[in-house]
Amino acid sequence: MLATITVKDEKCNNPLSCRKCLLVCPMGVLGLGTNVGTRKFKETEPEHFIVRGVRIDKCTGCMECVEICPGNAIQVSF
Ligand code: SF4
Ligand code: SF4
Repeated sequence: MLATITVKDEKCNNPLSCRKCLLVCPMGVLGLGTNVGTRKFKETEPEHFIVRGVRIDKCTGCMECVEICPGNAIQVSF
């Protein structure tokens, strides 16, 4: 069964400088995106970056991302 990964953007203030969940995930499930459509990464202000599950089929449910997030922003469920 596929995981459902939810990131509350209002609790993830600056993913560019935090990145803890991205680095801890052993499966490379999480990725950085933006909420400003097709604008290029280098033209995007830091506040517009967001974290999302991008390889959700690889998620094992280990919860390391949930546990490490300082903002309690991530929920993983099956
Ligand atoms: S629960 Fe584990 S495998 Fe799934 S996204 Fe979080 S750290 Fe990665
Ligand atoms: S660990 Fe939490 S606060 Fe840090 S980038 Fe990931 S979701 Fe955002």
